[in-house]
Amino acid sequence: MKIGFIGLGNMGAPMAANLVAAGHDVTGYDTVAAPEGMTMAASAAEAAQGADVVITMLPNGTILRAVAEEVIHAMHPGAVLLDCSTVDVDSARAVAAQAADREIQALDAPVSGGIGGAAAGTLTFMVGGTRDALAAASPLLDEMGGRTVYCGPSGNGQAAKICNNMILGATMSVTCEAFALADKLGLDRQAMYDVASTSSGQSWSLTTYCPAPGVGPEAPSDNDYKPGFAADLMLKDLALAAQAAEAADAATPLGTEALRQYRMFVEDEDGAGRDFSAMLPRYATKGRA
Ligand code: NAD
Repeated sequence: MKIGFIGLGNMGAPMAANLVAAGHDVTGYDTVAAPEGMTMAASAAEAAQGADVVITMLPNGTILRAVAEEVIHAMHPGAVLLDCSTVDVDSARAVAAQAADREIQALDAPVSGGIGGAAAGTLTFMVGGTRDALAAASPLLDEMGGRTVYCGPSGNGQAAKICNNMILGATMSVTCEAFALADKLGLDRQAMYDVASTSSGQSWSLTTYCPAPGVGPEAPSDNDYKPGFAADLMLKDLALAAQAAEAADAATPLGTEALRQYRMFVEDEDGAGRDFSAMLPRYATKGRA
């Protein structure tokens, strides 16, 4: 397939490299990055010209809307615009509507799996859009990922991503609180792990990504909390959840509290650039107030 790939950062570059390795004709565009081994265009529109599929992997909804405006006019009818960024539901739906006006098939397909999954080609895609568009993009999703879940119409992929990451943010935060409380109660971290990981406190945050160094499987906590998944990105996703909850009039008190904690950590303390599990050393140094 002829593919335009826009946004070749930490995630986009390895995803595009997997498509090149699979034999596709990939043209990239990025305002800053220029990965080795990639044919690069001078603009987003040039990368999109004549492409069967244009993939975007960009920082946020505002940038996505601006790039989509440009590429939709360069794409031919019937082509697929596959956005893999994490953005707000409204931006995903606005881009899909704009694409439909030009007979372009849009999919929102945010991912989970991080940079490791992007490099290994094992990402999970959560997809919103039509089943026909998904069928057209499926071979590429299979080359970049290990699992695709169809979530319904446009925007529903982003809705799934935002809800999943709200669970993750709140769960990680409370797991870190529990370890910090255990410390103060004189409970050994290994004992705390051995109980909670096999009891009803069990979660992905505990057993796959344990925030306590030296306990459980290897995780960013064992590497001085280098990301991994940065606290800044968790803050972004929790803010998207809060924005969606506000628009939908949904009660999300714990999601809102997790957002407040991550905002303080990233904006007022030393959390920027640290892994999102570094909430444990943060809570460990705090008292009740
Ligand atoms: P990144 O900042 O490394 O990459 C984004 C790239 O987009 C950068 O290279 C930047 O130069 C480029 N860009 C910005 N504006 C542009 C424009 N107008 N035209 C072309 N290129 C432009 O971010 P990332 O970690 O690759 O994340 C990308 C998306 O994937 C984000 O939406 C993020 O939330 C999501 N995501 C990231 C992870 C992760 O672990 N890093 C996991 C899941 C989802």
